[in-house]
Amino acid sequence: MTSVLWFRRDLRLHDHPALHAAAEAGPVAPLFVLDPALLRGRWASSNRTAFLLASLAALDAALRDRGARLHIRLGNPAAVVPGFAVEVGAADVFASRDYTPYARRRDAAVARALETAGVRFHARRGTLVHEPEEVRGASGQPLTVFTPFFRAWGALPLREPLPAPGRIPAVTAAPGELPTLEALGLPPAPAADALPPAGEPAARRRLERFLAGPVCAYAETRDRLDLSGTARISQDLHFGLLSPLEVVTRARAAPCDSTKFIAEVAWREFYHHILWHHPRVLREPFQPLGASIPWRDDPAAFDAWAGGRTGYPLVDAAMRELAATGYMHNRARMVAASFLAKDLLLDWRLGETHFMRHLADGDVANNDGGWQWAASVGTDAQPYFRIFNPVTQSKKFDPEGRYLRRWLPELRNVPLPCLHEPWTMPPHLQEASGCIIGRDYPAPIVDHAAARQRAVHVFEAARQAATKASR
Ligand SMILES: Cc1cc2nc3c(=O)[nH]c(=O)nc-3n(C[C@H](O)[C@H](O)[C@H](O)COP(=O)(O)OP(=O)(O)OC[C@H]3O[C@@H](n4cnc5c(N)ncnc54)[C@H](O)[C@@H]3O)c2cc1C
Repeated sequence: MTSVLWFRRDLRLHDHPALHAAAEAGPVAPLFVLDPALLRGRWASSNRTAFLLASLAALDAALRDRGARLHIRLGNPAAVVPGFAVEVGAADVFASRDYTPYARRRDAAVARALETAGVRFHARRGTLVHEPEEVRGASGQPLTVFTPFFRAWGALPLREPLPAPGRIPAVTAAPGELPTLEALGLPPAPAADALPPAGEPAARRRLERFLAGPVCAYAETRDRLDLSGTARISQDLHFGLLSPLEVVTRARAAPCDSTKFIAEVAWREFYHHILWHHPRVLREPFQPLGASIPWRDDPAAFDAWAGGRTGYPLVDAAMRELAATGYMHNRARMVAASFLAKDLLLDWRLGETHFMRHLADGDVANNDGGWQWAASVGTDAQPYFRIFNPVTQSKKFDPEGRYLRRWLPELRNVPLPCLHEPWTMPPHLQEASGCIIGRDYPAPIVDHAAARQRAVHVFEAARQAATKASR
């Protein structure tokens, strides 16, 4: 029986349960649908779409090597997928499960339309290590705190990763063409030259490189902004160029304790499970306290944050790294997000959207989880009274200032003792280092100590209001 393998964010051949099932059933017609609702929606991103298009080209090349090819179509999947299934004479459509509210609505609509056309829809595992239905607390309930989640998740048995298929029995139709960003109505990708090489083979090389050494130093180096201590595979996991199960299986086999790294991959699972069980988090804060915070309306402050002009070097370096590369180090994400939500008291959803528009790894579940954590409104969030000090964080995680100097050329000649807080430079040093505060680099847009007090006060009042309302 002919099947359609509908690729979504599983753009690989290794460990692909849906592809495996389709190939076992008979000839396969691989399909990818460019969905305008996603590509041009509120979180449209040229960086991410550029990476997607290049990954699709690599997937097509890999399929061709195996006697198949990728068919590209543009439009609403509820119309396109059934139309394609009928075109190739398929009785079944296989796909990997997806968990966002949009994906759930889309898949339900596609399944209904397929049923009308007499075609069966099968959603298989492959996007996560364990399914949201599988990870439960002692009394069978879904978990909303990471530590017990990680314990339950880590105790589940792992299946064996599947090999990439050899030849794929294929059915072909008109292939369709990969469009350009312009043809999709998107502007050029600002980070085009800095995006990591796309496609499954490049992603596998990144994983190999990490597992060959850095994984063993990960627990010590992962927070350092000036070192390449992390795997740099977030875009690969987002688009499924790597199977998370394979990543975890391989990391477990490392010749050292890789628990810290596996725990970070488990945060990805945790946020996907949260989104599955509590889809409302995409519209509102998880905690009631979040709804009572009087976020400020200050477009100039937001612009300074987004443009890397807050006067706090770590925040500014982080935002400029994002603008230039479509990526940001995790520690920098935490500090930049905290600064927006706490120091500036601006609605975290503004930051969430900004990140989604720029990140090549922009991921609905991880990004929302990360932002709600940083704004202290999420499931397992940072307590609201623990507010990152951007200067202390900078000194601790970029002790020699290499990250700062890389992204803030105007601070290049500022001596290290003043680099993390350049406004402390006396005038003669400002002159000597060619960095006059207020001219070459901004003075801080808020005083952190005062902003911290304001935030604690506002959050405490919101907590009291939320407690009162729940009585
Ligand atoms: C405000 C904020 C927004 C974020 N937005 C995203 C996003 O849109 N997409 C995204 O993939 N990650 C996001 N993260 C999580 C994290 O910053 C990135 O996954 C990580 O920096 C990617 O680099 P890496 O692959 O080298 O990570 P590594 O440290 O090598 O970790 C390996 C993998 O584990 C997962 N992971 C690691 N940390 C986290 C985490 N805190 N939450 C969820 N998954 C994690 C990622 O898939 C990552 O690729 C966000 C974090 C914060 C604080």
